[in-house]
Amino acid sequence: MLHVNENYARIKPTYLFAEIAHRVAAHQKANPDAKIIRLGIGDVTEPLAPSVIAAMHRAVDEEAGRENFHGYGPEQGYAFLREKIAAVDYAARGADIKADEIFVSDGAKCDCGNIQELFGPDVAVAVGDPVYPVYVDTNVMAGRGDIRLLPCNAANGFVPGPDGCTADIVYLCYPNNPTGAVATKEQLQAWVDWANERKALILFDSAYEAFIRTPGIPHSIFECTGARTCAIEFRSFSKTAGFTGVRCGYTVVPEEVAAYAADGSRVSLKPMWMRRQTTKFNGASYITQRGAEAVYSPEGQSETKATVDFYLENARLVREALAARGYTVAGGVDSPYVWVDVKGDSWAFFDKLLKESNIVTTPGAGFGKAGEGYIRISAFNSRENVLEAIDRL
Ligand code: PLP
Repeated sequence: MLHVNENYARIKPTYLFAEIAHRVAAHQKANPDAKIIRLGIGDVTEPLAPSVIAAMHRAVDEEAGRENFHGYGPEQGYAFLREKIAAVDYAARGADIKADEIFVSDGAKCDCGNIQELFGPDVAVAVGDPVYPVYVDTNVMAGRGDIRLLPCNAANGFVPGPDGCTADIVYLCYPNNPTGAVATKEQLQAWVDWANERKALILFDSAYEAFIRTPGIPHSIFECTGARTCAIEFRSFSKTAGFTGVRCGYTVVPEEVAAYAADGSRVSLKPMWMRRQTTKFNGASYITQRGAEAVYSPEGQSETKATVDFYLENARLVREALAARGYTVAGGVDSPYVWVDVKGDSWAFFDKLLKESNIVTTPGAGFGKAGEGYIRISAFNSRENVLEAIDRL
């Protein structure tokens, strides 16, 4: 008999955003003239930067002839991109990451989901609650049952600390999706010290680092002392440079980071990740990687920063409008997400906003139990739509 992977029965039957899309489609069908404003899923709306477009056009032209044609690329991604990442995203911030510790991929979601293949079935995994669903669901799909929730609430400023945490792996995401919270250097250093003491591992998702404007807030876990022995970091060009449709990200696995075999021997994770990627993944396209490289040019840096600034201004407008209407709001400062206390059932509030105001948000309960009572509002939209949504609110 064909046996199914029964772990799939332990996760919610639809991914959160599929459920939201379903409700929005039903509402649009019932109200065909409704002008729905989508502040739900965190998808970008602004076009790619001109320097990225130009670089990708040049790359397409190279593919048009035999002389500069590219087939499969180098396993970890092209050196021209990895070297820029190492210099701009790490060395310039005082973080010691070498180009050969960077693995270019087609986005952070797959890397965040795939990394758990490197660990045993019995490891204890800690995640924030609320949380980006990928961390939990991919571990449950793989049969892991020991998932420990770290409550993120107003009392801890949505940044839980390591005290009392006995997990083997912790997923940390700052700036956070969904709460928009950022962690200070001291808060991240406490996690790094905890991980080194316990021989635990931090999986650090900094997909939204480009939104950090407050001086002193770390963009990378590798800005903390000792992180090279206990952390892996995921980055994405999706929100930094509008690549949600282009697809490119990368994962940093330092030489020193390790897990342990049953006999206690140390097993380096970098060669394992290389083995995993070369077995199951054939690289992001040359055209995409040339586009990503252009993000690091002086023009690319200023163009992508201007777009992120635009979204941050949307976030500020939403945050201040809601605060002025008496809501308690978090996030929306170094983050595109505003986390709003709705003092009640979050799916009911979501439905009310959709039905009465034609505004799509994301109910906090979709991100975990501790998200109940909140909605997430995304700043990824045109200024016109954001202002209209504020009006309707
Ligand atoms: N990590 C977080 C926290 C996200 O919110 C997202 C996308 O929304 C991703 C990773 C995925 O990024 P990518 O588009 O690179 O797969």
